[in-house]
Amino acid sequence: MDYSCDPTLLAEVRRYGKFDATGCFNCGSCTLSCDLAGDHASFPRRSTRQVLMGLRGALNESLDPWICHDCGDCSTACPRETGPREGMMTLRRYLASVYDWTGIASKINTSKVWYIGSLFAVGVLVLLLTVWYHVSVVKMPLSDFTSTSMGLEHMFPIMTYFTLVVVLFPFFILLTNAFRMYWFTVHQKASIQSPLSQWFVEAKTFMIHFFTYKKMAECPNEKDRWPKHLLLGLSCLVTLLLLVFALRWFQTDKLYPIYYPMRLLGYLITALLIYGTGDVLLGRLKKKKEIYKSSDFRDWTFPILLFATAVTGIAVNIFRYAGLELATHYVYAIHIIISVPMLVIEMPFGKWTHMIYRPLALYFLSLRERHPQYELSPKEVANVA
Ligand code: SF4
Ligand code: SF4
Repeated sequence: MDYSCDPTLLAEVRRYGKFDATGCFNCGSCTLSCDLAGDHASFPRRSTRQVLMGLRGALNESLDPWICHDCGDCSTACPRETGPREGMMTLRRYLASVYDWTGIASKINTSKVWYIGSLFAVGVLVLLLTVWYHVSVVKMPLSDFTSTSMGLEHMFPIMTYFTLVVVLFPFFILLTNAFRMYWFTVHQKASIQSPLSQWFVEAKTFMIHFFTYKKMAECPNEKDRWPKHLLLGLSCLVTLLLLVFALRWFQTDKLYPIYYPMRLLGYLITALLIYGTGDVLLGRLKKKKEIYKSSDFRDWTFPILLFATAVTGIAVNIFRYAGLELATHYVYAIHIIISVPMLVIEMPFGKWTHMIYRPLALYFLSLRERHPQYELSPKEVANVA
């Protein structure tokens, strides 16, 4: 581990959001209040000390910020009002940028102009591609573009291939960044490499946390947030799976009746997405819970984009079944102009990265904890005592 002190670290971390740790007098109230601290006696204070002491190497190897599930109990308990919850959130943005080899995560997480600009640029690119496709492939005169009434069928199956690219390419970038996370947090710790068999045995940890967000349920004050987050997360996951494996269900000339299972599944997922994101946005507006008292603008953008994607998606369905072709066409254009930037920017670089990084961190942590180095011998126990 690199123990050199980097005096620029605090200033750099603060570029990623709120990190008011200079008032921290290391009292430990945040650790006592955190139900996820477990045996990590210095969680979440350890990360704060690493930043204040400029221990960049230790911070980059740390998995602590990903253990935090953002409940806010530590911020309520902190007598100095330094906001450790926000600090952990800021560190997650910093670490996501450390893992990202493209440098885009760092740009969008430190600059509103870059963040909004990149979403806007991808949206404009999608609009230009839409115009180009109609003019060059469908051979529609530009003068007819905004007024010609036609169904969506002329875009099948090109939209299937387009969708595969805009889902799988960002996911591939996210996976490469996840590999870099492994490299920084596990591989470079050569002294605690686990045997391959242990990697397979502990893979269940990743699966459990990826599908259940189980840690969130361990916060007593988050009992009502966990089922909502679970349903929202699973809805996003099923949506991605449908986009990759079953888009042709929905992109077909045939209009299935309302009771058809694929339509019902689509409606259920859309309802859950609208409910889940609407609940988050209302919470942020009301600011009653500690978790919502202080929000970075990126905390708003992702649920707004997800909400707008779900609403425009269901509107396309309603207009199509109602036979309103021009309305269907317009709303579908809006739908992809909103959803594609969300997929391309948020999934590999933004807030959505926690979908992979958090369960991976808990997986890596379980490997670390099971390593013999972490089990003290009786002699060591006696020495410690
Ligand atoms: S409760 Fe506040 S002052 Fe005490 S250790 Fe935690 S962050 Fe620092
Ligand atoms: S926000 Fe909640 S989970 Fe995160 S460190 Fe604070 S108390 Fe622990």
